[in-house]
Amino acid sequence: MFHKFDTIAELKRSVYMWLLPIITVALIINSFLNNQSLFDTMINSTLIFWFSVSWVLAFLNRGIIFGEYSNLLLVSFYHVLTLLDVVHNDLATTGGSLGDFIVWMPLIIMFFFLVLGTKRGMYYSIFIFLITITIAVIYSGQLPPESIDSLTQFHAANIVYILVLFYAQNMFRAFTERDFFKKHAYIDSLTRVANRHQIDVWLEEKLQDAEEEGKRFSIVFFDIDHFKKVNDVYGHKIGDCVLKELSAVVSGNLADGDLFGRWGGEEFILISGSTGEQALDKAERFRSMVENHCFKGAGSLTASFGVTDYQKGDNIDSLLNRADEGLYHSKNTGRNKVTMN
Ligand code: GH3
Ligand code: MG
Ligand code: MG
Repeated sequence: MFHKFDTIAELKRSVYMWLLPIITVALIINSFLNNQSLFDTMINSTLIFWFSVSWVLAFLNRGIIFGEYSNLLLVSFYHVLTLLDVVHNDLATTGGSLGDFIVWMPLIIMFFFLVLGTKRGMYYSIFIFLITITIAVIYSGQLPPESIDSLTQFHAANIVYILVLFYAQNMFRAFTERDFFKKHAYIDSLTRVANRHQIDVWLEEKLQDAEEEGKRFSIVFFDIDHFKKVNDVYGHKIGDCVLKELSAVVSGNLADGDLFGRWGGEEFILISGSTGEQALDKAERFRSMVENHCFKGAGSLTASFGVTDYQKGDNIDSLLNRADEGLYHSKNTGRNKVTMN
């Protein structure tokens, strides 16, 4: 759900875009359903107005930080004043419990953590907690036992929510960091295709499947011709762009089950379930695709290919050496060629 966001700011904006209307509608429904005091009506109207303004700011992608900090102050005031109102006007006069007030609390603490982040969110939540517990202590002498019970439960739940959110955020961060490192350990940072480490893992798996289940496969090894010239003539940046563009072109034309990655420098590998003539045809198709592509800033380029099928008793080195010999032959016989070895 959250994978498409590159920054926390984008994620927050998206959360505000759907959360603010939900809360605003809930507040509007609430003001119609309940017979509210003047105090409730004033607080609700202020919140409805300011949440709507914040939604517009989020929609326009402007002043979001101003929107969220003003909401933070408003929500904090709402939280403390509402508790004071309930304790002063309801609990201290008629007794009873806090009612649905407790339902909103996790959302409010979640909002503190969302705006301020894990550590500051926790400190701020504790600060607000200390204010509400001070109110409870001040009024404790005037409250009946069941109201004191209700307030104690409220504050115990408050502590639990703060701890749960603190640990949940830390856990979430640990998981996302682990996923990030796991993913990036196997991806080439320039071209975003598989890197040599991933190709090694794939080759190990393919060799094992071939030995144990007799599944055949081939590898296509290719290298851009005269790539040094691209760097020398157009600069290293254009050279990088060529590598990215070529990776995108090949990746966009893979068949089901084809595995593709950057072996290093301007050398790439394709692992495929096709063998023999079919593997040769596939390599030829990619050779012609490279030849006919116009690379931004560098124009036309070619690449030389070496193709080899898995043979019984192969290991990664023997397989790569054979493909490399094919590639070497293509280079030595004029480049822009495919050689099966
Ligand atoms: P050949 O046709 O024989 O393959 O010639 P070539 O110039 O392509 O081969 P050579 O191996 O001499 O040069 C490869 C060049 O690729 C040298 C190196 O600077 C460049 N290169 C390797 N990795 C990168 C990279 O990540 N970005 C850029 N821009 N250049 C790179
Ligand atoms: Mg080259
Ligand atoms: Mg090379």
